[in-house]
Amino acid sequence: MDIRFDGKKALVTGAGKGIGRDTVKLLAKCGADVYALSRTQSDLDSLKAEVPEIKTVCVDLSDWDSTKVAVEGCGPIDLLVNNAAIAKLEPFLEVTKEVFDLTMNVNVRQLIQVSQIVARGMVERGLGGSIVNVSSQASLVGLTNHTVYCATKAAVDSLTKTMALELGPKNIRVNSVNPTVVNTAMGKIGWSKPEKAEPMKRRIPLGRFAEVEEVVHVILFLLSDKSSMMNGTCLPIDGGMSSTGV
Ligand code: NAP
Repeated sequence: MDIRFDGKKALVTGAGKGIGRDTVKLLAKCGADVYALSRTQSDLDSLKAEVPEIKTVCVDLSDWDSTKVAVEGCGPIDLLVNNAAIAKLEPFLEVTKEVFDLTMNVNVRQLIQVSQIVARGMVERGLGGSIVNVSSQASLVGLTNHTVYCATKAAVDSLTKTMALELGPKNIRVNSVNPTVVNTAMGKIGWSKPEKAEPMKRRIPLGRFAEVEEVVHVILFLLSDKSSMMNGTCLPIDGGMSSTGV
């Protein structure tokens, strides 16, 4: 399957590391004009050194006013990947206001704000567009110590459906990907210790965690016209874990 994005402008949030970083690289390789947005300038500098044709945008998405300026500054966008998120682990009985507020802000509020700015432009231009929200298996099953993270990802799935409902008539498709643990910096936060990793792998029929590339390929498929009838879908990339109920 040959996917090309020539003539399309893409914005990827959380582009400094992990899934976002590799999404930027593959989008650029497939011909898109890519804006890579993230929080740490040195990550963006090293990404730009690897892929000189991209544009970089350094902003902390938890800052509403700076985010508005930064995203509006990108101009018209055809393809949006809402990938930035944080995971701070706390057991349910120890959830703090600080972690709740910050995580909701970074994982949910900014996704709404960035999508509003981008989708308003898509509506004005009347050419449609595609948005992929990077959710998680954490929206579909309970995960110990992931109370707030799971809640934010369930919110992302809910947003995917309401955005798909309201933007679909304007030819803007919105879908999410819901990966299991992926081998990135974030993946290591909860799952690097064998006593955590092994029981989780046993719940996954394929018996392993996902590689970054296995998520990026699905993101590009959902951005592309190859998925032109898909809208409002929350697509597990979890080796069968959520559908087998183990
Ligand atoms: P990662 O390696 O931690 O990378 C996340 C990127 O997002 C980093 O570049 C980070 O920048 C950026 N970011 C975080 N907060 C930001 C903010 N406030 N403003 C701007 N940028 C910000 O994470 P990942 O594993 O690639 O995760 C990407 C997405 O996949 C997330 O939505 C995550 O929830 C989801 N996911 C991950 C896994 C997993 O196991 N890894 C599983 C399922 C779903 P800094 O490093 O500079 O903060």
